[in-house]
Amino acid sequence: MAIIDAIAAAHGARLTIDLSAIAENWRRLGAQAPHITCAAVVKADAYGCGLAKVAPVLWGAGCRTFFVAHASEGVTARSVLPEAVIYVLNGLVPGSGPALMAHALRPVLGSREELDEWAALRAETGRPLPAALHVDTGMNRLGLTISEALALAGDPIIAAAGIDLLMSHLVSAELPDEAINRRQCEGFAQIIRAYPGIPGSLANSSGCYLGDGIANDLLRPGYAIFGGNPTPGRPNPMRPVIRLEAPIAQVREVKAGDGAGYNARWIASGPRRLATLSVGYADGYPRSASGRGHALVGGVPCPIVGLISMDLVILDVTDAPAARRGGPATLIGDALDVDSVGRAAGTIGYEILTNLGSRYVRHYVGSID
Ligand SMILES: *Cc1c(COP(=O)(O)O)cnc(C)c1O
Repeated sequence: MAIIDAIAAAHGARLTIDLSAIAENWRRLGAQAPHITCAAVVKADAYGCGLAKVAPVLWGAGCRTFFVAHASEGVTARSVLPEAVIYVLNGLVPGSGPALMAHALRPVLGSREELDEWAALRAETGRPLPAALHVDTGMNRLGLTISEALALAGDPIIAAAGIDLLMSHLVSAELPDEAINRRQCEGFAQIIRAYPGIPGSLANSSGCYLGDGIANDLLRPGYAIFGGNPTPGRPNPMRPVIRLEAPIAQVREVKAGDGAGYNARWIASGPRRLATLSVGYADGYPRSASGRGHALVGGVPCPIVGLISMDLVILDVTDAPAARRGGPATLIGDALDVDSVGRAAGTIGYEILTNLGSRYVRHYVGSID
């Protein structure tokens, strides 16, 4: 079996990110509603995959509208996407106005205060930048309530704030049978009717698979672009994007009764072979996968034993004859997709992606065509 390459060996784990899979996933999501536009949500450093690398690839695939969470992420996006439309989901956070204006970023406004402040900034600066209006149809998180938004329809503040997009966010899009999906759809349809001529956007990744009525004018997926399954419980229609491999630093034999790792949380029930990987929670691999997660060695699933340390993970490789010093173990990839790794760590794949650390040596494959 191959020895992991020298660069990865020097760093610990190697994270491979497939840029062509990212472009292909964005196209597949857009094909769910071919008559409308598909944007891309690239917040949190493009879900941990690297905004500066990913955004130009999406632009090359035809994406023209991007969403980030913070103004600072918008500034990074702008530096690689000079012509794109970029919306900032968290809105006009007090103090962020100058950065938004300077980099032509469009806040997603969610309150009367934000509308007033943005309108004032547009008038003062002479930069009449558009903005989106966030309507909260059930999340109770950000945005005007449906009745507030209906009351503001036709109000001069809407034009003064340059509203060019209506937006709402789904509470349970990944659970297609939840009644709230239909209620949010109906609530948002009321808003669309009250604001004629302004396009609407409701669907996140899972929303793209909820069928008619959700699509409106602009799809807004994030997670699925990066390989996450937008249809949990059903086969993943996306191509995998990331692969995480760590080199085996040492292999040892233990006997019945021997413990492994901090506080000896795992005790060998018989003679076992253990492999210690050069990766840990400080790299972004979740400590909560201790005693629950797996890694693949030569294709064989090997359980993680004991507590995950800051820089090391211990595997039981008794059933994996390929395990040897310097050989690779796959922590994410093949049968271990981000959704299943998230489940094993008691969380969701979203958190696995967004915690991918800067300590990994990052290897981008599948160049932009
Ligand atoms: C993160 C986010 C999205 C993208 O959601 P995914 O589930 O990652 O596709 C869309 N809209 C809003 C408001 C978001 O916060």
